[in-house]
Amino acid sequence: MGFSYDLHIHSCLSPCGDDDMTPPNIANMAALLGLDLIAVTDHNSCRNAGAVMEAARMLDLPLRVLPGMEVTTAEEVHVVCLFPELSAAQAAGEAVEAALLPVKNKPEIFGHQWILGPGEERLGELETLLINATSLSIDDMPAFARRYGGVAFPAHIDRSSNSVFANLGYFPDYLDFAFAEVWRPEAFFRDGAHRDIRERYTILKNSDAHYLDKMKEGEPVETLGTLDEFLARLFGA
Ligand SMILES: [Zn+2]
Ligand SMILES: [Zn+2]
Repeated sequence: MGFSYDLHIHSCLSPCGDDDMTPPNIANMAALLGLDLIAVTDHNSCRNAGAVMEAARMLDLPLRVLPGMEVTTAEEVHVVCLFPELSAAQAAGEAVEAALLPVKNKPEIFGHQWILGPGEERLGELETLLINATSLSIDDMPAFARRYGGVAFPAHIDRSSNSVFANLGYFPDYLDFAFAEVWRPEAFFRDGAHRDIRERYTILKNSDAHYLDKMKEGEPVETLGTLDEFLARLFGA
């Protein structure tokens, strides 16, 4: 009854994402790994999400792709936002891109920011550097995602950079996040540590892959209900 997921994957639009993270490669790798549900979450932009969704559709397999992005808040905390449909993601993505520092990418230093079509065709390269902070506060993020019918959750909260613990020093429990992403839950929750977080939030474990070989194996989880139940919970349907 369970399903497998990976809700944090970067494409070649992210400067730090490998050039091999093209829409068809991501869709094919997800299918190979036996994943039922993935999300495309580039830094501060949704511009390759539609191409991955289309590439997955062309495979004609039961692989579901959610459009999303990993927003860098003004506090430099990473927050993953997911959306139920592409048009909502595109509107949210435009708002986030507009809130980015207007600094140009230097591909030779940070990497390329390719915008690709579903067949890997190059549609362009985004000029504004996507890894900078936006002017959106973490306090804005739950409502920001909801405005577009989406959901936001703090990314890799157990990492030593760009996380709530690293950048704020605490988990902002006054915000109505329902989910939290933990990079290494085995270590983070060892010996009853962080029980308050485990009890209050639905914990998600994603790959945060920037390379094809870092995408995670599709291991069905039983604790999140069926895929449809989980999607309904994500988007509050
Ligand atoms: Zn991150
Ligand atoms: Zn990431």
